[in-house]
Amino acid sequence: MSIKNKVVIITGASSGIGRATAELIAQNGAKVVLGARRESRLREIVDHINSNGGQATYAVTDVTKPDDVKKLVDKAKEEFGGIDVIFNNAGIMPTSPMSALHIDEWNAMIDINLKGVLNGIAAVMPDFTEQKHGQIITTSSVAGIKSFPGAGVYGATKFAVRNIMEVLRTESAQEGTNIRTTSLYPAAINTELLATITDKDAEKGMKQLYDAVGIDPSAIARVVNFAIDQPDEVNVNEFTIYPTKQA
Ligand code: NDP
Repeated sequence: MSIKNKVVIITGASSGIGRATAELIAQNGAKVVLGARRESRLREIVDHINSNGGQATYAVTDVTKPDDVKKLVDKAKEEFGGIDVIFNNAGIMPTSPMSALHIDEWNAMIDINLKGVLNGIAAVMPDFTEQKHGQIITTSSVAGIKSFPGAGVYGATKFAVRNIMEVLRTESAQEGTNIRTTSLYPAAINTELLATITDKDAEKGMKQLYDAVGIDPSAIARVVNFAIDQPDEVNVNEFTIYPTKQA
């Protein structure tokens, strides 16, 4: 089964990587179900996809709320008759030194970047287990592989989802549930993510880096498209994506 007609749920679909992915895979025949908090954005993207011959719908979703994520999955089933893929992509990146004690931001990252991914996994797991078919794609980060100053808690959430995804892969193989798992480790991608940084020094450093080397989110969309498009017995498991110019 190729990407055509697959039903793909995308969280964090109102901008950046999620939006670019929704638009690309819809062009290639996937039926996309968009989740994020900003409804006007979601409506605009869905209208754009549908008016260009694609199939898209949305549900306003805060990934920190398990019921919202369940409703997003229900929406996919109602509109498109099932689910094949969830792309757990919603995230924030308010980086800062640990010593700055931005404790509210630490908690928000744990809630969105880590618990939000768990809410996505929990919402699809019963269907995926029963149908013995499904794919879970999660956006970690290069900060989930290496430790960077300023990314103590951000990186912790991304290391954590990396572990969860690898355990899911091995358990799925052992349990014979056929669930494919794909983890993405992007480096500097030009999106709205830096707007979540409140620490002025951290923001300045990141802006300099992204202005110098950042690449378009369509780079990640193509990777997601490739991962979904593989045959059912092929689990392309991990992708690290750097801009050519980034050291
Ligand atoms: P954007 O800021 O452009 O997109 C983030 C998305 O997450 C938005 O659609 C936002 O929508 C959504 N979001 C944030 N909080 C919530 C929430 N509580 N519930 C639902 N949706 C939420 O940034 P990116 O596209 O770059 O980010 C996507 C992912 O990529 C993130 O997980 C990020 O950590 C990761 N990443 C990004 C890199 C980069 O350089 N850009 C590098 C490595 C990883 P809304 O506000 O409408 O809810």
